[in-house]
Amino acid sequence: MRHTVARVDLDALRGNVRAIRGLLEDGALASGHPAPGIIAVVKANAYGHGAAAVAHALEAEGVAMLACADVDEGVALRDAGVTAPILVFGALGVSDLDGIFSHRLTPTISSPWAGRALADAAAARDTVLGCHVKIDTGMNRLGLRHDNLRQTLPAILDAPALRVDALYTHFATADEPESEHFALQQQHFAEARETAAALGLRTTHAHAANSAALLRDERVWFDAVRPGLLLYGVVPPPLMTTLALEPALSLHSRVVAVKGVRDGEAVGYGQTYRPDGPRTVAVVPAGYADGLDWRLGNRGVVLVRGRRVPIVGRVSMDMISVDVTGLDVSPGDEVVLLGRQGEERLDVREVAATIGAIPWELLCRLGARIGREYGGGNSKCDM
Ligand SMILES: *Cc1c(COP(=O)(O)O)cnc(C)c1O
Repeated sequence: MRHTVARVDLDALRGNVRAIRGLLEDGALASGHPAPGIIAVVKANAYGHGAAAVAHALEAEGVAMLACADVDEGVALRDAGVTAPILVFGALGVSDLDGIFSHRLTPTISSPWAGRALADAAAARDTVLGCHVKIDTGMNRLGLRHDNLRQTLPAILDAPALRVDALYTHFATADEPESEHFALQQQHFAEARETAAALGLRTTHAHAANSAALLRDERVWFDAVRPGLLLYGVVPPPLMTTLALEPALSLHSRVVAVKGVRDGEAVGYGQTYRPDGPRTVAVVPAGYADGLDWRLGNRGVVLVRGRRVPIVGRVSMDMISVDVTGLDVSPGDEVVLLGRQGEERLDVREVAATIGAIPWELLCRLGARIGREYGGGNSKCDM
């Protein structure tokens, strides 16, 4: 058994869903609108947490829909036995068409080509395909441009083999409190929905909010919200919330060696850590091949014996060294790379901030070599 494991607390995940739902229900009560549904985002192996286990837990929690990045991720979810509706965000390729039908996925139409290809494929299979249409309201990435829908939408709305179940968009600056672009995108989306209605779109169903947008602005909740990061118990920086969220993932390892470094010696590749005097260094078997960011070398910290200790020298492919001078550390001692130990806590937002990265990136880069252990309430990380 390898020492480095990610523990995923599915009870925490479900608690996060309930906390988000509570927020949505309270807001809905206040505004008189029905509470939006939750489209739970499980792309990129559920942000590194393990897509199958996470999807089953979310399904049990009654989310309206799951969302993934591409058809292959959707197929993997179906193969794992997931039965909830699955929205595929990404652009489709020719080779994706079969999977949409064989695995009952809901595709996103984000280009005229995708509309034509899906309409033809559905017609050839003698079926009507439910799909969502993505509007580009200013992200300038995927989606039909908001300002020429009169050219692009009719072919999609008029295709007898397609049924558009929702319009959606995605915000570029929902996590930037100062940004005016967020309001501009909202305005473009409102206009796009009016245009679509005028062109004969039969549903008014819409969704737009990622984690940051759903925290920030009730006006963009529409019929469903699309949280990713927030489900996993991490608030998009720099936003804050009073919601009771718990990080679902913690990352643990064990000390495999402890050694003295003498005066004048240096630690690791490039000899980048050369202490002033003798030190005691512990070796931890987790490196950049496991998803630990190389930039954490001489910058990051880990928890050992309930204390924060610095990562010294470079991050190697398979291990790091940490300075445990003055602590009574032996091989076998637990190391926490993310999560809680005793009174101390190290969260992914903090780790990301120390190296100028973002929590999304660090979570979904957690490597395939790391085992995932799933637990409920009794397997919380502070052991
Ligand atoms: C990834 C993604 C989300 C979720 O984003 P978070 O910031 O993790 O909440 C929502 N919508 C789309 C289209 C996405 O690609």
